[in-house]
Order: sequence, then structure tokens, then C-alpha cells
Amino acid sequence: MGKLDGKVAVVTGGSRGQGASHVRELVEEGAKVVFSDVLVNEGEALAEELGENVRFIKHDVTNAQEWENVIAETESTFGPVNILVNNAGIVITKNIADLSEEEYRKVIDVNQVSVFLGMKTALSSMKKTGNGSIINISSIDGLRGAPGNSAYDSSKFAVRGITKTAALEFAEYGIRVNSIHPGVIETPMIQVEGTQDQVEKLKAGIPLKRTAQPKEVSKLVVFLASDDSSYCTGSEFVIDGGVTASN
Ligand code: NAP
Repeated sequence: MGKLDGKVAVVTGGSRGQGASHVRELVEEGAKVVFSDVLVNEGEALAEELGENVRFIKHDVTNAQEWENVIAETESTFGPVNILVNNAGIVITKNIADLSEEEYRKVIDVNQVSVFLGMKTALSSMKKTGNGSIINISSIDGLRGAPGNSAYDSSKFAVRGITKTAALEFAEYGIRVNSIHPGVIETPMIQVEGTQDQVEKLKAGIPLKRTAQPKEVSKLVVFLASDDSSYCTGSEFVIDGGVTASN
């Protein structure tokens, strides 16, 4: 028996990286999963590999109408949504002096506004289940500043903030809302141009002396998605090998 038997999950940014790992683990634990992404080829290939309990939908998380489609299609395919993982994200690493307004707004839109849209759109579906769990992926950059990451940090602090407000607003429906704050996780994101110097500095200061694999974060996602975390809401879950322990 899986920890998520009978549950229906939606995961954004699920075509690769941590999102793809979350999709795999949720399915492994018995959930039916709809995942979305702007990366279509990778998404279709993953859905085909994982079989009938998984669907891929092309979806830009900044688009409210596309969110409506994702939730409606999830309900019609598998039933009301129990689990929402707001995972999609981007990073642009530049000092404030060099960052354009357009770049700043883009990161806020993809990382922050998407979380608002996702929770707002999924709410009516999740209310029907009476036991929802929303997991918003923030970062250790949602807990502290990092030079060059003004847009990313702003968005990830905001994700942490809206998580707590949503937890208070949704508690009456039995919907729990928590944020996850990963440190350095081995995905394509840490190879993005401009981030390497910062990632190398971060790596040098990790108390556990290693980066993490996406699956290690997925285990935490499964915990928060499942009834094992039935009394956790409005909380931030740090998974960083000890990086922020000395903050
Ligand atoms: P990733 O491998 O880059 O995966 C992110 C996925 O989101 C990509 O497939 C990306 O597609 C997609 N995406 C980007 N913009 C989108 C949009 N507008 N609509 C839908 N999908 C979109 O990165 P990851 O490391 O797995 O990141 C997952 C989450 O963890 C992110 O929220 C990230 O900020 C957070 N995080 C990562 C780390 C780390 O060290 N890796 C640490 C802390 C937090 P494209 O390739 O086309 O952009």
C-alpha cells in the first residue's frame, strides 16, 4: 500500500529536475498525477514512461486561463485535487545595478504570481476533498539574502509569506499549506548561466559536504503530501545540508 493511494496530485514544472522527481515519487506512492510544464518533449516522454496514472499538460504557470484548464482537466480525468505542488521556477542571477525591470518582473511572475494563481484556482477543487495539501517550493533564498539574486530572493520570500497566509485561510477546509526550502540540489537550474560562481561558493559552505539529489527533496514532498504530516501547516521545511543552520 502506498502513502498516497487514492489521492490526486498536480505538480508544476514537472518535466525535468526536481519536479520530474516529485512526479515519480508521488506515483510510486500511489497517487494519480497531472503534471505541467512549458517543456513539452520532456513532459510527454515522462508521462509516456510512467503510464496510465500520469498525465502531462503544457502549461505556463503565469497564465490564469491555463491554470483553469489544468485543474478542470485534472478533475475530469482523475477527480478533485488533493495535492498541489507549486514547483515551477526560474532564476536570473545579476546584481540589482545590472538587472532590468523586465527581468525582475519575469522572475516574480514565474516564481511568485504563479503560486497565487495555483492556490486560487485549485481551491474550489481541493475543498471537495476535505483533506488537501499544498506544497510551495521556495528556497533557502526565501530565508536569507544572496548577492545577485534580488529577483529570485524576492519571489522566494514571497512564496514563504503567502504560504503562511494561505495556511490560515484554508485551515477551515482541512487544507494544509507548507513551504519547502531546498539548498543546492543537482538539477539543470544550478547550471544556469551566471549562477555557477554563487553555487560554487554555496557548495564550499555546506556542513554535510555535498549537494543533494532531487529524490531527497521528493521524500519531503511525499511526507507533506501524505497524512503522515497531518498536523503540519503554515510551516517552512528546510532541506539544505545544514547551510542555514548558522544564519
Ligand atoms: P529546473 O530543472 O530548471 O526545473 C524547473 C522547471 O520549471 C523547468 O522544466 C522549467 O522549464 C519549468 N518552468 C520554467 N518556467 C515555467 C513556466 N512559466 N511555466 C511552467 N513551467 C516553467 O529547476 P529545479 O531545480 O528542478 O527547480 C524546481 C524548483 O526548486 C524551483 O522553484 C526552484 O526555484 C527551486 N529550487 C531549486 C534549487 C536548486 O538548487 N536546484 C534550490 C532551491 C530551490 P524551462 O527549462 O523552460 O525554464
